Formats: sequence, C-alpha cells, structure tokens
Amino acid sequence: MADFDLVVIGSGPGGYVAAIRAAQLGMRVACVEKEPALGGTCLNVGCIPSKALLDSSEHYWQVRRTLAAHGVKVSGVDLDLPTMMARKDRVVRGLTQGVAGLFKKNKIESVRGTGRIAAPGRVAVGDRTLETARILIATGSEPTPLRGLAFDGERIVSSTEALALPRVPERLLVTGAGAVGLELGSVWSRLGAQVTVVEFMDEIVPTMDRGMGTQLRRALERQGISFRLETSATHAERTPNGVRVTLEGKGQRTEEDADVVLVAIGRRPYLAGLGAAEIGVGLDERGRVKVNERYETTVPGVFAIGDAIPGPMLAHKAQEEGIAAVELMAGVAGHVNYDAVPSVVYTAPELASQTGRYYDRSREIPPSPLAADDNLARELWIRTEAIVGS
Ligand SMILES: Cc1cc2nc3c(=O)[nH]c(=O)nc-3n(C[C@H](O)[C@H](O)[C@H](O)COP(=O)(O)OP(=O)(O)OC[C@H]3O[C@@H](n4cnc5c(N)ncnc54)[C@H](O)[C@@H]3O)c2cc1C
Repeated sequence: MADFDLVVIGSGPGGYVAAIRAAQLGMRVACVEKEPALGGTCLNVGCIPSKALLDSSEHYWQVRRTLAAHGVKVSGVDLDLPTMMARKDRVVRGLTQGVAGLFKKNKIESVRGTGRIAAPGRVAVGDRTLETARILIATGSEPTPLRGLAFDGERIVSSTEALALPRVPERLLVTGAGAVGLELGSVWSRLGAQVTVVEFMDEIVPTMDRGMGTQLRRALERQGISFRLETSATHAERTPNGVRVTLEGKGQRTEEDADVVLVAIGRRPYLAGLGAAEIGVGLDERGRVKVNERYETTVPGVFAIGDAIPGPMLAHKAQEEGIAAVELMAGVAGHVNYDAVPSVVYTAPELASQTGRYYDRSREIPPSPLAADDNLARELWIRTEAIVGS
C-alpha cells in the first residue's frame, strides 16, 4: 500500500485547502512546499502583504490628505516605513504559521523541499520518495516577464520586491494597469512616490467593465497617479540613479526616467522542476496544465488546480478548486460555479467584478452568456503575447 492517499505539491491557497479537506475526508495526506513558509504566493508575496500595505498606506493618506477637510487638524505626521513593513511581515507570519498549525491539527505531513513527479504515484523530494495513490499539482504561478525589461530585483522589479522596497521611490513606473499594478501603484503613491502607470490597452483594468475602469482611472488620477494608455514599455536601461524606460504608443516613442519600474503585466503557471511534462502531463498553448471536469490531468492519478490551470488567477478560485478536486476524489459531489467568481481591485475606491466562464475555454465548458467577452479576452491575449517574452 502507498504511504499516502494524496500528495499535494504546493501549499498556496489551492494546495493547503485541498490538503486540509482531504484529511477531513479521511485521506492520509502529505503537502510538499519548496519555500520556508507555507501559504504560497497569496499569503507570502501576494494577497495578504498587499492588503496589509494598502491598509497601512490608506491610514497615512487619510491623515495627510483627507482629515483636514473633516476639520481634524493633524501636524507632525511622519512615515516610518520600516515599522509599516514590519507590521506587514507580522500579518504574513501570523497567517503562514496558522496554516502550519492547521496541518498539524489535521495530521497532514508537511514535507519541505521541491517536489518532482518521478512517475504517477511517486513524488521525489530530495533523497526521499513519497509513494501515493494520487498527486495534486498546486504549484501556482510566477510573474510574467516583459521583453526588454528583464527583472533585476532592485530597479526593475516584480510584485514580490515591490511589496518590500527599502525606501519610497521618488518616481515609480508601473507597467500593467491590472489589479496588482493598481494596488501597488496606490500603495507607493499614497506613501509619496510619483506614480505613472503604463497600459497597453486603451483603458485600465481591461478585463473588467469599461465604464467602471474609466471611473476608477479618474478617481486614481485625482489621487495623483498618472496614466499612459495605449502605450507599451519596450526597453529599459540602468542609469546611475535609476532606470530609463522607452515607451511606445499612439505613434510616439518617448523616454521616461524612474527610480523603480514595477512590471505587473500578469502571471504565468509555475511548473519548473516539477517533471510534469516529462511524465506526459498535457499543457495548453499558454503553458497551463490541462484538466478535465474532475481536475484530472492527461495522466491518470495526477490532478491539478489553482493558478497552474486555466481560469482567473485568484486565491478563492484556487481554494474552491482544491476542495472540489479532493471531494471528487473521495466520491463526494465537488463543484465550482465558475459563473460566480468575484474579482476585486483593492484600490480606493475598490472595483469589484465577476469573472466569467470565458476564461475556461480550454476546459471545453459550453458557451456562456458572457461569450460576447470572448473577443476581448482573445484580443487581449494575442496582443499581450506579442509583447511578452517567453
Ligand atoms: C501582489 C499580488 C496580490 C494578489 N492579491 C490577490 C487578492 O487580493 N485576491 C485574490 O484572490 N488573489 C490575489 N492574488 C492572486 C493569488 O495570490 C493567487 O491566485 C493564488 O495564490 C493562487 O494560489 P495557488 O494555490 O494556485 O498557488 P500559489 O499561491 O502560487 O502557491 C503555489 C505554491 O507552490 C509552491 N511550489 C511550486 N512548485 C513547487 C514544487 N515543485 N515543489 C514544492 N513546492 C512548489 C510555491 O512555492 C508556492 O508556495 C494576488 C497575487 C499577487 C502577486
């Protein structure tokens, strides 16, 4: 008999929730994680730290910019960035340790290291091989790089570094006006940076309602953020004090200097070192793991969920899929309603929307009432492909 009924690879919101639900359903479960802390992108370098900084920076902004209009006079207001960052780290630590506690409580074996699928039913982690009836890929995603603006971790950064800048940049250039770019742009703008957001499409948050995107842009402009629409950042080079970025759009080519450039054009599935392709796990044209309606890949006994498979890259979507996948494995009627997946941009004001089934074309779900949006989704993808490096 195998050592485990289920080995989950990845402890993000998809993986840790799946592991806990599987244990609750009576399975013997192990969860493999390569990073020191459990919780994945969301808890460590995504949803949670970004919301912690949005919260802190909004307090700062309100005290400095809005309280006077309410007749509240405040003087001597200073930013203590290290304390703000320390609070964010504390929030993250509390939640990741909470996941470790839940694993213990549910008798889930937490295995540290990079998991590689040696064969169906076998996961290698360092010197150890875990024998298991089933494998669940929950390895998530990573920031998509932009051709011409290679990440250097210091001046040309992804969201991971933008959540921990050592000082407020004087000028921050953000490429990509989606949720991540607008949220982190807001954080640093509220803390004093001069923020410019460059967007390839002709309006911000292009996957959401256009009219609402326009309203949100106007609100953010009033807060001091500048936008360059229908514009692409095509090249960047280091200068003694920062980065010089070439912008192309509307028939013009200009250069913009920034202290830091945040590349936030999207995320792509992370499957490095997993060995999925080697054992024949099928991927779609965007490198996402193909699954059927039971979340099983093209290799029997190997399942996948979350950011690694098609669909909106959202924590609650990954969690719902994690629960549904293991419930289906256990013979319980697991189900995800893809017509009811909310998506929120946590700026001030916040913008909420509902993502639709049109994201799920490769899972061959029948056309939905949102099919009209297919053209937008497809056009976005084709145009993004044209500028994104592999
Ligand atoms: C800045 C930012 C803000 C965000 N804000 C929100 C938000 O407000 N709301 C929301 O819904 N979503 C948000 N997201 C998206 C959300 O973080 C992801 O959709 C979610 O984390 C996906 O969960 P997952 O379990 O699929 O993968 P992940 O959370 O990416 O977890 C995957 C885990 O697998 C591990 N792993 C990968 N390969 C291996 C391997 N071979 N062996 C062992 N471990 C491995 C990784 O280290 C990682 O811990 C945000 C993302 C970012 C970047």
